[in-house]
Amino acid sequence: MTQLLKQSKNDGLLTIPFINLKAQQDRIRLQIDVAIKSVLDHGIYIMGPEVFDLENQLAKFCGVKHAITCSNGTDALLLVLMAKKVGPGDAVFIPSFTFAATAEVVACVGATPVFIDSLEETYNIDPKNLELGIQRAKKEGLNPVGIIPVDLFGQPAEYDAIQVIADTHSLWVMADAAQSFGADYRGRKTGNIGDVATTSFFPAKPLGCYGDGGAVFTNDDDLAAIIKSLRVHGQGLDKYDNVRIGMNGRLDTFQAAILLEKLKIFPSELLFRQQVAAKYNEGLEEIVGVPRVIEGATSAWAQYTIRLPKSARRAALMNRLKETGIPTMVYYVKPLHLQTAYRHYLTATGGVLPVCEVLSEEVLSLPMSGYVEDEEIKHIIETLRTLCAL
Ligand SMILES: *Cc1c(COP(=O)(O)O)cnc(C)c1O
Repeated sequence: MTQLLKQSKNDGLLTIPFINLKAQQDRIRLQIDVAIKSVLDHGIYIMGPEVFDLENQLAKFCGVKHAITCSNGTDALLLVLMAKKVGPGDAVFIPSFTFAATAEVVACVGATPVFIDSLEETYNIDPKNLELGIQRAKKEGLNPVGIIPVDLFGQPAEYDAIQVIADTHSLWVMADAAQSFGADYRGRKTGNIGDVATTSFFPAKPLGCYGDGGAVFTNDDDLAAIIKSLRVHGQGLDKYDNVRIGMNGRLDTFQAAILLEKLKIFPSELLFRQQVAAKYNEGLEEIVGVPRVIEGATSAWAQYTIRLPKSARRAALMNRLKETGIPTMVYYVKPLHLQTAYRHYLTATGGVLPVCEVLSEEVLSLPMSGYVEDEEIKHIIETLRTLCAL
């Protein structure tokens, strides 16, 4: 309880951080200060040595040939679509239950996102529904080109089943691993899955910097070369030799320097997140739907997301939790195929996607990070048990 009280000093309320970035900073503040000072001293703010050092470390961490850092997780997805020359008439299959960026980049290049339903158990893209979506896109005269599975909340999608479908229809697979950096899938890290994978270093992601950042991972030499060119205005020999239409998609040196320090403690944070999830599971499995991780995989636990019983009134429950100092979030209130910007695009069924529509009404994410205290976990479990029993 002392820890909770310490955090409550300012507002008189016991407040647990939803993501405890402050505890992480306290742990490595000295190293971060040194890293930032070193960039200030050498003064190479763009594409400094830390950027290349980080790329080597990221590639090693994922066991993949190329890690190419970039401006953010959205641009990481966009760079790949640009490299693959995806455009009008092309269909790209994505789960509807994800963050908007996954669909946004497809629409941005003029292609058609086709929304696929989720699996109840894992919240990830449903391979059977994906097959249906591909048939529907073909019937509509679209040209299916690729699939972007999302590792929602940190858990890898069903890549083996997805790859079989991709091979059948000659589609590429780009793993949107923005939430799952550090997770494993059947002996591989999430950066080393599919034709190409992307991630985000947004501060709240499992590995986050102190600003925007992202990366693309691939074993494909040609694709890597094109993406490196695209991220610097489609450069050829240099920035002033332009061989293709590109963008300014670089990660800045400060963020790379910060990420290098954070990557050192990342494995220990991942283990801690797994312990937090296990404790939540144990305390909550009798009263709510707890997240299940598929066989042979681990989750990076970007979010710990429960499913409330049908009888629960989520908004009221969230308010009661907030009153006892427990912040919660709903990811995502509305699946993308129901959003104003995206509702005119195709869905696999031609209409309703029943699973993700129900999920969006029943999910609730609890505080999660590499720094959730045992006392906090206990308080959250006890409060939820009391409130859900009402
Ligand atoms: C965060 C996120 C992104 C985008 O990352 P940014 O760095 O914020 O651009 C893309 N896809 C998913 C699934 C995400 O969670």
